[in-house]
Amino acid sequence: MTIYHLGLIGHPLSHSLSPRIQKAALQACGLEGEYSLFPVAPDNFQGLKDLLARVRSGEITGLNVTIPHKQNVIALLDELTSTAKAIGAVNVIYLQNQKLVGDNTDAPGFLADLKRFIRDRESLIDKSALVLGAGGSARAVVYALLCDGWKVTVAARRIEQAQQLARSFKNYQLPITSLNSPILRAASLWDQVSNISLLVNTTPIGMTPDIDQSPLPQDISIPNGTIIYDLVYNPRETKLVRDARAQGLQATTGLGMLIEQAALGFTLWTGHNPPREAMMTAVEQSPISSL
Ligand code: NAP
Repeated sequence: MTIYHLGLIGHPLSHSLSPRIQKAALQACGLEGEYSLFPVAPDNFQGLKDLLARVRSGEITGLNVTIPHKQNVIALLDELTSTAKAIGAVNVIYLQNQKLVGDNTDAPGFLADLKRFIRDRESLIDKSALVLGAGGSARAVVYALLCDGWKVTVAARRIEQAQQLARSFKNYQLPITSLNSPILRAASLWDQVSNISLLVNTTPIGMTPDIDQSPLPQDISIPNGTIIYDLVYNPRETKLVRDARAQGLQATTGLGMLIEQAALGFTLWTGHNPPREAMMTAVEQSPISSL
C-alpha cells in the first residue's frame, strides 16, 4: 500500500490549518500517510534545496508552499504549470516523470469556490470585478478572473504594485485597470469604478486580531447587487462580510477557497478527489485559523 508523505514549507507555520485539512482528506479517502510542517526561514535557501531533494528522491510525495517561499522555490524546480508561470508563484510541488513540477491551486481554488457561491446567478452577472490589494493572492485572483472572462480593476495603496500586476497580465487581452492607493479609504470609490458586480478583498485587513477593521470606509454603502468575496477566512465572518450582509448583499469569506486549493493539491499528489465536507469539518473543529 502506498504511504503518502506530504507537507508544507513556509515560515512561520505554527498556526497552520493545512495538517488538519490534509489529514482529514487522507482519512476520508482511506489512504495511509502523514502531513508534516517544514518551517524554513526566509533566507534559508539551502533548507529549501534539501527538502526539494527529498521530493526528487521520492522520500516526500508532495509539498505545499506558503509565505515566504512561494516565489523562492521557482528557481529550484524543473517545470512550472502554465498557471504557476502566469501567476509567478507556486503553492504545490510534485514529482512527475522525474521532474519537480510547481503548480498553483490558489487560482482554480478561488474560481471554483466563487462559482459555487454565485452558481444560481452566474448567467445574470455582468462580469466586472474590483480587486482590493495587489499582493500574492491578488495575482492568483486576477489571473483566475481574467481566465474566466471578467473585466478587472485593481485598487491598491501602492499604485506601482497595482500597475506591475496589471502589466504582468497584459497578454491576456482583457481590460485591467489599476486605481490609486488612497481609494481604499476614499468615499469616492464607487465614482471611480462603475458597474462593479464583484468585489474581492485580497488584503489582510479584517484578519484576526484586527477583526473590527474593513478595507472599505465605514461610511460607504456598497452598490446593490454587488457580490462580496473576502479572501480572509479568520474570523469566520469578517467585518467586510458582516457589513455587506447587513446591507442585504451576498458575501462570503475565503474558507471555501482554502479548502478548494487544498483539495486540488491533494488530487495532484494522490490522484484522489477528496470530499470537501470532511476537510471543512476538520477546519470548523479547529480553534485557530491560519493557513
Ligand atoms: P500579501 O502578498 O502581503 O499582499 C497583501 C496586499 O494587501 C498588498 O497589496 C498589501 O499592500 C495590501 N495591504 C496590506 N495591508 C494593507 C492596508 N492596511 N491597507 C491597504 N492595503 C493593505 O498577502 P497575500 O498572500 O496576498 O494574503 C492576503 C490575505 O489573503 C491574507 O489575509 C491571507 O490570509 C488571505 N489569503 C487567503 C487565501 C484563502 O485560501 N482563502 C489564500 C491566500 C491568501 P502593501 O504591499 O503595500 O503592504
